[in-house]
Amino acid sequence: MARVAFIGLGNMGGGMAANLVKAGHEVIAFDLAEPAIERARGNGASIATSAAEAVEGAEAVVTMLPAGKHVAQVYRESIIGKAPTSAILMDCSTIDVATAKTVESEAQAADYTMVDAPVSGGIAAADGGTLTFMVGGSDDGFAKAQPFLEKMGKAVIHAGGPGAGQAAKICNNMLLGATMAATCEAFVLAQKLGLDPQTFFDISSKASGQSWSMTSYCPVPGVGPETPADRDYEGGFAAALMLKDLKLAMEAAQEAGAYTPMGGEAEELYQRFVDRGGAHKDFSALIKMIDDSWKAPAGGGSISPPVTKLD
Ligand code: NAD
Repeated sequence: MARVAFIGLGNMGGGMAANLVKAGHEVIAFDLAEPAIERARGNGASIATSAAEAVEGAEAVVTMLPAGKHVAQVYRESIIGKAPTSAILMDCSTIDVATAKTVESEAQAADYTMVDAPVSGGIAAADGGTLTFMVGGSDDGFAKAQPFLEKMGKAVIHAGGPGAGQAAKICNNMLLGATMAATCEAFVLAQKLGLDPQTFFDISSKASGQSWSMTSYCPVPGVGPETPADRDYEGGFAAALMLKDLKLAMEAAQEAGAYTPMGGEAEELYQRFVDRGGAHKDFSALIKMIDDSWKAPAGGGSISPPVTKLD
C-alpha cells in the first residue's frame, strides 16, 4: 500500500482514483470542482485542500487534467518542489507533446522521475480499470509507474522516452479520426449506390477496407456489434475530445514537419461537426453530418463548452 496523490477527479480521474483505493492504496485527492471531490470522498479517497497539500509525503502522484496548460501549472506550482523527490510522477492527461517534454525535463532537473502516461479507453474503461496506458519516460520511470498504472488498466506499454506516450496517443487518435471519417463516408456512399448497410458491413468487414472503426465501432445503428450508434450516439467518445486530439496531432505534425493531409481533413470535419452542435455526441455521429441528417440540438449552432474544458 502506498500513499498516492491524485489530482483531477473528473470523468476519467474519478474512476481511476477509485480503482487505486480498491487496490488498497491510500489516495489523497484534489480537484477544483466540488462534485468531483464529493465523488472521490464517496469512493474512499481522503480529500486535500490543495494540490500542494495532496502531494505532501506522497510516494506516487497521478494527474488527470484537461489540457497542457493545466498540467504545466499544477506541476510548476503544486508538485515540483512540494512532493518528495522519491515520488514517481505520472501525468495521464492527453496533452501536447511539447508541454509533456518541457514539464518532464523541469521535473527531472528538480530530481524527480516523471512519465507521461496518457490513456486509451473512455469513462467506462476508467471506471472498470481497463484502460490502456502508453508510457513515455526512462526505463526506471516506467518500472516505478507500472505497478500503479496496472491497477487502473488492462495494458501498460512503454512507448519510449519522455513525450513518447503522448506521441503514441495522438498518432493513434489521428488514425482513428481519419478511419472513422472514411468509414462514415463509405457507408453513406454505399447506401446511395443502393447497397444495404448490413450487406456492405458483411463484405467490407472481411475485405481490405476493414478497420476498428468498422468492425468494433460501426457508425450505422443496428449494424455490427452494439455501439454508441445504437444509443443515438450517446456515451462513447465525445466528438469534442476527438477534435481536441486531432488538434494536438496537427500541432505536433506542424512542429515535426510531417505531412498529414488525412489528419487535417479529419480535423476540419470534426471542427464543423462540433461547430454545428455535435460536441457531446459520440464521434461516430459524424455520419449524420455526412449523410446530411444531422439536426443540431435545440439552441442550434455552436455549443460550448464541450465535454472537457478545452483551450
Ligand atoms: P474532465 O473535465 O471531466 O476532468 C478534468 C478535471 O480536472 C475536472 O474535474 C477539473 O475540475 C479538474 N481540474 C482542472 N484544473 C485543475 C487544477 N488546476 N487542479 C485540480 N483539478 C483541476 O476531463 P476528463 O474527461 O476526465 O479528461 C481528463 C483527461 O483525460 C483529458 O486530458 C482528456 O483529453 C483525457 N481523456 C479523456 C477521455 C474521455 O473519454 N473522457 C478518454 C481518454 C483521455
